[in-house]
Amino acid sequence: MPDIILNRHIPEGYSAADNSLRDRVILVTGAGDGIGRTAALTFARYGATVILAGRTQEKLEAVYDAIEHAGYPQAAIYAIDLKTATEADYTALAEQLENEFSRLDGLLHNAAALGERTSIANYSLASWNQVMSVNVNAQFMLSKALLPLLKKSADASIVFTSSGVGRQGRAFWGAYAVSKFATEGFSQVLAAELENTSNIRANCINPGATRTRMRATAFPAEDPATIKTPEDIMPTYVYLMGPDSKGVTGQSIDAQ
Ligand code: NAP
Repeated sequence: MPDIILNRHIPEGYSAADNSLRDRVILVTGAGDGIGRTAALTFARYGATVILAGRTQEKLEAVYDAIEHAGYPQAAIYAIDLKTATEADYTALAEQLENEFSRLDGLLHNAAALGERTSIANYSLASWNQVMSVNVNAQFMLSKALLPLLKKSADASIVFTSSGVGRQGRAFWGAYAVSKFATEGFSQVLAAELENTSNIRANCINPGATRTRMRATAFPAEDPATIKTPEDIMPTYVYLMGPDSKGVTGQSIDAQ
């Protein structure tokens, strides 16, 4: 059992200390856009050295430049396409991080593919496989490759990104919903395996409706002004990535 049960929310009124992520090395997938971009900038603002992982170099460079311009700790870029990357690619990533940083304190699995919004009867196998590759298989390969580096940290945190449709299936959410159930399950399995054998905790965040490109694609008729921004949900990300959540593991937290 985890040391602390949060009952799906971080402590009320939580506010992180300015330097709460100082000296932490944190990798963020999908760091070029949406929630991942804001998480990368926020982790850097709280003092972390952030490894910006993603598939679109220009977007990653823009985040890198924004971090530099703000005077936060210098970031690093690692271009990788989670749809096509092989186990050897993840091994190469781990080796490069080992050489440059010698350990890893945080891993935010944020990148995801939405896939088709259609019935199972009409869902294409190609789209199903793509969603599972990015949302599930990549998380497994990346986590496995980085475990040795996470074990070198005194207080490591793996954060997965879930969704409401990863807890209750809904019509027309297809592979995306199934992949988010898998994410919740993977996070629990990892948390249980690591709890008494390492300093690594693993938890899920369900961001809730958040103003991003993916949300606009999934809900084209929604007025973006009516939903939260990525900045609004950052306290949960900083809490789970930093020392204040020590002892919290195997949980699924709502960011809203
Ligand atoms: P987003 O704006 O579409 O951003 C997704 C990020 O993932 C982008 O940086 C994208 O890179 C990257 N990505 C996608 N496929 C990739 C691949 N094959 N390889 C590497 N990177 C890839 O979406 P978001 O709303 O911020 O979503 C972030 C996370 O929150 C996802 O896990 C999503 O399922 C979850 N979520 C979001 C909401 C919401 O309301 N927004 C609600 C529940 C859960 P490019 O920019 O290069 O395409």
